[in-house]
Amino acid sequence: MEILKNYIDGDWIKSIESDSIAVINPATQEILGKVPHGKNTFSDVTSAVEIASKAFISWSKIPVMRRVQPLYKLKQLLEENSEDIARTITMECGKTLAESRGEVLRAIENVEVACGTPSLIQSEFSENIATGIDEFMIRQPLGVCACIAPFNFPAMIPFWFLPYAIACGNTFIIKPSEKVPLTMMKIFHLIDQLDLPKGVINLVHGGKDTVDALLDHPKVKAISFVGSTQVAKYIYSRGATNGKRIQAQGGAKNPVIILPDADIEMSAQIITDSVFGCAGQRCLAASNVITVGDNGKIKDALYESAKARSTGYGLDENIEMGPLITSESQSRVNHLIQKGINEGANILLDGRNTKIKGFEKGNFIGPTILEGLPLNGEIVTTEIFGPVMGLIELDSVDSALDFINSGRYGNMACLFTSSGSNARKFRNEANAGNIGINIGVAAPMAQFPFSGWNESFFGDLHGQGRHAIEFFTQTKVVIERWPKEWSRKF
Ligand code: NAD
Repeated sequence: MEILKNYIDGDWIKSIESDSIAVINPATQEILGKVPHGKNTFSDVTSAVEIASKAFISWSKIPVMRRVQPLYKLKQLLEENSEDIARTITMECGKTLAESRGEVLRAIENVEVACGTPSLIQSEFSENIATGIDEFMIRQPLGVCACIAPFNFPAMIPFWFLPYAIACGNTFIIKPSEKVPLTMMKIFHLIDQLDLPKGVINLVHGGKDTVDALLDHPKVKAISFVGSTQVAKYIYSRGATNGKRIQAQGGAKNPVIILPDADIEMSAQIITDSVFGCAGQRCLAASNVITVGDNGKIKDALYESAKARSTGYGLDENIEMGPLITSESQSRVNHLIQKGINEGANILLDGRNTKIKGFEKGNFIGPTILEGLPLNGEIVTTEIFGPVMGLIELDSVDSALDFINSGRYGNMACLFTSSGSNARKFRNEANAGNIGINIGVAAPMAQFPFSGWNESFFGDLHGQGRHAIEFFTQTKVVIERWPKEWSRKF
């Protein structure tokens, strides 16, 4: 099996790296491909950056109306190939086909919003700030920008950045997760069909050393990172030390409150979708589910809804939850569940030892619910990134808000209620950047920023929409005076 190639200067180029990592289907354990290990990819990165830097000189001068034209074609190609891309996501990442199809749609929506860059990039003008003097601001591109992506949304996440970056006149390098590089390979075969100058969009595979080479290269001006908090912090500090603009989206531990005045059946369904969708491997997965004044009804509804979810191979259209990404992840989550029990939790629903007929080697864990967890224990405070719900009972909305606001993350917080005043208080006081009211996965549409807070985000401008336009441009303020007497006299 050939090692995957990089895409540099409009061409598929063999990596300098001879060591590789296997790309494994998490349901079947079949080896789907081999990705360059990334220990020796310094020169791959250098060549991609040099090419992208050269391409920037002419690309940045092309009018923005013309720069967005390839995005219209990209949208069409992504739509025409969406099923193929979705199947690839499911095969390497494990999520269900329905989830993969949704992910591709979310990627396309970002292309659509970025097509509006000619308007979004417009700036400000003040006439006559002093007699005969005008002042205005223009937005100019930065240069070579790079994206370092996580495994859990191999198609969508690079699109929080890529279309905006190039529409603003930058050139771009994507480093996909080494666990799921095949989706981006498919997408780059589509990018290869665009009428884009060579070197505007490039792909370099690898792991930590590839990331470090991007962080240290002086010609890389900005880095967009999405992944775990530990790595996000590292990227933020090393990139900033090297003078780069950084946006680093990190991990999460998302709380959801459900009040007795909510529509219990509907809310339980939505909440279990949030906890167990993508097998809990979503940065917007609900994890701590807080009930207030429950007489048992909410707990029963959550239990029934979780128990009814089918687990299996994502390519089977009937299943609702796929496997975890690696066998290491599976062991880690199993270990955390046991830790919760050791901390004193009652296991209401136990998904360990889930075996799927025909896929016995898959990294499956079925829906799991733990209750009676200590609030300061490891399970309540750690990002599990697996299909585990921590059920917590508190005595008031205020104590639920206090609990939420004491957490280290701030990616999402949700409330289920029929009370407008509770909803209003919650959206105002919850210490998180994405808020859901009767919504289980408060994922911002492409025109809004993906607004994590606290240890879920390091930087100031997030991915998507207007924030992306601001991140990928630098402002220049011009003050002009044109005295009549200085005009040439004819
Ligand atoms: P990860 O941090 O392990 O890896 C992300 C990227 O960083 C990969 O490309 C990887 O090659 C690289 N990387 C890994 N270790 C590195 C190191 N030590 N130095 C430099 N680079 C390194 O994350 P993951 O497991 O791929 O993704 C899951 C995590 O991503 C979860 O924590 C999840 O919450 C988070 N996530 C956050 C968001 C968000 O918007 N906040 C969205 C999706 C995923």
